[in-house]
Amino acid sequence: MAHLKLHIPGPVEVNERTWQAFRTPMIGHRSKDFQKLYGKIRPQLQQLLVTERLVYLSTSSAWGVMEGALRNLVAKKVLNCMCGAFSDKWLDVSRRCGKEAEGLQVEWGSPILPEQIDAKLATGEFDALTLVHNETSTGVMSPLEEIAKLKARYPDVMFIVDMVSSMTAVPTRFDEMGIDLLLAGTQKAFALPPGLAVFVCSEAAMKRAETINDRGYYFDLIEFQKNAENDMTPSTPSIGHIYALSSKLDEFFEEGLENRYERHRRLAQSTRDWATDRGFTLFPEAGFESQSLTCINNGAREGGRVVDVAKLQSLMKEEGILIDGGYGKLKGKAFRLSSMGDETDETMASLYAALDRSLDKL
Ligand SMILES: *Cc1c(COP(=O)(O)O)cnc(C)c1O
Repeated sequence: MAHLKLHIPGPVEVNERTWQAFRTPMIGHRSKDFQKLYGKIRPQLQQLLVTERLVYLSTSSAWGVMEGALRNLVAKKVLNCMCGAFSDKWLDVSRRCGKEAEGLQVEWGSPILPEQIDAKLATGEFDALTLVHNETSTGVMSPLEEIAKLKARYPDVMFIVDMVSSMTAVPTRFDEMGIDLLLAGTQKAFALPPGLAVFVCSEAAMKRAETINDRGYYFDLIEFQKNAENDMTPSTPSIGHIYALSSKLDEFFEEGLENRYERHRRLAQSTRDWATDRGFTLFPEAGFESQSLTCINNGAREGGRVVDVAKLQSLMKEEGILIDGGYGKLKGKAFRLSSMGDETDETMASLYAALDRSLDKL
């Protein structure tokens, strides 16, 4: 079957240079060569996330690290900030991990705001919170830097942040934000194949983890730290992914991080412009639109054009492109276009042209 170009918000298209790196001949994970590989990407990851802390690599999708974060950092009760499918899921996962948990739920399409979190934390009930920076299901970005400022007032609360679909698309200053655990899977804005997660923890997170007995093994933060100090991982990682990550980081720095962020800003804006020029409205609350994907309203909210999304998707397949048809309860009532990863003005122009031809046929 012919390959469909992925314009869904993850996994995204993986380029040839990345695949070539991925299939580098295998090495042992306890070898000097592996330490050299990790040692090479270590400072690149630190520069990317603006941190002095070691950045860890986990052979798992993002949820592995998300679950690990709960197991390592929650002793008392966790506040799950919920504004879409991924952030909502944290509540369920927290409880499945046996943690006491409470949701701070806002309407899908709205962001999480600092004052809402502040009011909850002020009760003194919580020792951790989970936040999704870029809620991929709704295309909403919550104001992470403003929320992170609350950390100064609540130093004993562990701030666990999912940047799965925004890391490398927007500037990320981990140390400056003062948050405790930041994670991403690599099949979104990193544009790597699925199966690897990247994360970083504060010193305070390490101290908290030390006090928790049932951290498990595979996602034990202390194990990650001890191993990373020797440029190793706790267990055998997907070494192909790490070669691919190394190549990808080279690409990021060749482009320049600021250029990369600006490209993501520009392409998200051009996608929004395409949608509104065609009579659609956007699903996210104005001012909180994602910089890596666009969630277009198609009847979920009042106003704007409504089309048959399933039909649009199949016409787009004939164009050789896969788009999303709305996540979870938004299926058919919204659709999403990804502009993250390696997309350019040219590739996005091809997407818009294909969408226009498809809309004409509806
Ligand atoms: C994709 C995504 C996830 C899920 O990641 P997996 O790789 O499926 O574990 C979690 N959070 C957000 C915001 C996502 O976009």
